[in-house]
Amino acid sequence: MIPLSEAQQFVLDACPRSAAGTVLLDHALGCVAAESILATEPVPPFVNSSMDGYALRAADTAGAGAGDGVARLQVVGTVMAGAPLDGTVGPGQAARIMTGAPLPTGADAVSPLEEVRTERDGAVVLIEGAVAPGAFVRWTGQDVAVGDVVLEQGSVITPGRIGVLAAQGLTDVPVHPMPRIGVLSTGDELVSGPGPLPPGKIRDANRHTLIALIRQEGWTAVDLGVAGDDEAALERALDGARHRCDAIVTSGGVSVGDLDVVKLVLSKRSAGTMRWMQVAIRPAKPFAFGVLDGSGIPVFGLPGNPVSAMVSFELFVRPAARRMSGHTTLHRPVVAAVADDDFRRRPDGKVHYLRSLATVDQGGQWRVRRLAGQESHQLTAMAEANALAVLPDGDGVPDGGHVQVMLLDPGRVGPAGASPVPSSSRGGVT
Ligand code: AMP
Ligand code: MG
Repeated sequence: MIPLSEAQQFVLDACPRSAAGTVLLDHALGCVAAESILATEPVPPFVNSSMDGYALRAADTAGAGAGDGVARLQVVGTVMAGAPLDGTVGPGQAARIMTGAPLPTGADAVSPLEEVRTERDGAVVLIEGAVAPGAFVRWTGQDVAVGDVVLEQGSVITPGRIGVLAAQGLTDVPVHPMPRIGVLSTGDELVSGPGPLPPGKIRDANRHTLIALIRQEGWTAVDLGVAGDDEAALERALDGARHRCDAIVTSGGVSVGDLDVVKLVLSKRSAGTMRWMQVAIRPAKPFAFGVLDGSGIPVFGLPGNPVSAMVSFELFVRPAARRMSGHTTLHRPVVAAVADDDFRRRPDGKVHYLRSLATVDQGGQWRVRRLAGQESHQLTAMAEANALAVLPDGDGVPDGGHVQVMLLDPGRVGPAGASPVPSSSRGGVT
């Protein structure tokens, strides 16, 4: 057996960051910026009103509010968003103005609609208090000035950042393109789709969980279907995938059984780079990894048991594909939690990953419970888990002790009554 860290390093070394390219702005969500971008336009692009109201000259209202002082201003027109006033606001005058409309020449403040009265069918507006110069005015460049960094190299593109870039008129964004990842299930016992299950067969779960795990990260999943335990079929599937995938994930066929053909085919097709590993973890001990000849495409041979396949994805595929996407934080966050269950185990040379439910208590302390059904074929516990408790080789942790917990899905908290997860614990900013 080899330590997990050694296996992970072997994989990461073969999965370099993708070369910079561009994607359409509306397809950039979740990508990592390959360059910094400076603003070429100010935002707002012109001085405008932040309220529906009246644009006026503040000096005209200086005496208003004291004694019987009311400023009576002549309304000279209306400014709508998108249509500047044809004319100016002179002394003793005002213009009705809408939110986002350009402040007319001459005006230097806005009095909101709610704070004024009008007379003579709106021809005169009465201002009952002094309006400060600049009140309810948004200045040119108040949000973004020309030359400001609107996107920093290495940052992750979020919905808000897409809006900031759109406000600059950008249509393409320089990013490290996200990988297209092929997913192939292997095994003579697998059937896909509906219909009665023939004797001895099982339904293919892994292809669907792996495709979903890939899509959850924003990457493109390429469904490569099911191959039997047959070398020729597997070779055909890999050959067909190499032109449309940047990485390939298979499940099944990497154990020590007679028909474990993934490792055989990979060793033929990866020019000696393939390594078949027994990783010192449970579940997901067997793992094969190699790079396809000529193409540099990494192939991840995950074990077939459904929980093992998912854990292996978490520990190998996700960090590697994050690296290919330009991220520098590759692994899930790990926090220390109080064990609310017995997490004792026996020494066996392996690190155990237990399907668990992590929550935060009223005092902000992480707590963790183990789920029932910890065998590697029991996918329901993995389906309910939001965390994996990490138990290093040894005797484990008794109830009340401290356990390291890898958060799989910090957004999904545990039982009712648990406080929401603090945002500082959410993983993976770059
Ligand atoms: P293997 O790694 O091929 O030895 O498979 C280990 C176990 O996982 C066996 O019980 C397989 O039937 C099961 N298995 C393999 N592939 C899948 C799959 N795609 N979906 C569900 N179970 C699978
Ligand atoms: Mg098999």
